[in-house]
Amino acid sequence: MYNRRKFLLSSLAASIGISLPASGHKEYRYRSDRSGFDGPVIISTWEHGLAANLAAWKKLTAGKSVLDAVEAGVMVSEADPAVSSVGYGGFPDSQGEVTLDACIMGPEGDAGSVACLKHILHPISVARLVMEKTPHVMLVGEGALKFAVEEGFQKTDLLTPDAKKAWEKWKQKSMVPDDFNGGHDTIGMIALGAGADVAGACTTSGLSYKLPGRVGDSPIIGAGLFVDNEVGGAAATGHGELVMKTLGSFLVVELMRTGLSPEAACRSALNRIAEKIPLKPDYQVGFIAINKGGETAGYGLQKSFEYAVMKEGKNQLFKAGSLF
Ligand code: ASP
Repeated sequence: MYNRRKFLLSSLAASIGISLPASGHKEYRYRSDRSGFDGPVIISTWEHGLAANLAAWKKLTAGKSVLDAVEAGVMVSEADPAVSSVGYGGFPDSQGEVTLDACIMGPEGDAGSVACLKHILHPISVARLVMEKTPHVMLVGEGALKFAVEEGFQKTDLLTPDAKKAWEKWKQKSMVPDDFNGGHDTIGMIALGAGADVAGACTTSGLSYKLPGRVGDSPIIGAGLFVDNEVGGAAATGHGELVMKTLGSFLVVELMRTGLSPEAACRSALNRIAEKIPLKPDYQVGFIAINKGGETAGYGLQKSFEYAVMKEGKNQLFKAGSLF
């Protein structure tokens, strides 16, 4: 059995031009020839990533850690009532409740996450404390709220008058949450800081008018966000169910580990989604990625995806390439 498996692996390896070590397992090693770190690089999703990048940049250039940078960065979107898919001002679920999902990963491989958290302005900071103060990775719902309050977070009303108005309008037309309802503005951010350390953060109010209790990809380590300090990091936005079914951000990082550029890795992960899952025309997923050499990319299923990159003091918005 073992020999037959080894034979099959060796034949496959020969046919695609890689040589296997004696164990029969290909050792995926990131090619360190691209790890010439040259100052901080920050990438984040959507236009509101520009303001978030700036806050993260300030932390990095003040000598703060890459974790401090991504946390401070995404907190800008969490607090901005104009961003209707993140934090305060985020559109509620079908019952009018704002529920938040967030996660954070650091260069040591550490991770923290909260899901379906109500009443807390900065879920990313709660996720960081889950990572730093508990033996767990993820807290959800009432337990996450209890933990946050015990850690000193204030409870607050996250439903702004504008979001309430939009929800009431939606309610008149439809009481059945559909697949997407148009909201896809999660902020995901990956930063490369001193010593080429990588960290990432992802935070969202999720899909607008979702079923109560629905959790998307954003707080799921490997789906909405993944960081491996040997390789780089990736984050996702868009239709979370598609990302969860393919563990999208983990896939992007693993593809970079095999030597693919961030752009090729994002595109390839989107191809995986398109191959595996029947898509509706309005489904959108966007990935951002950064490798240890500071190369960045964003790619979407549809044309609408944009991402913001800050490097060498310049903060720019880019239109992402797309599969369709
Ligand atoms: N990915 C998020 C979710 O499915 C949505 C978004 O990006 O806004 O919850």
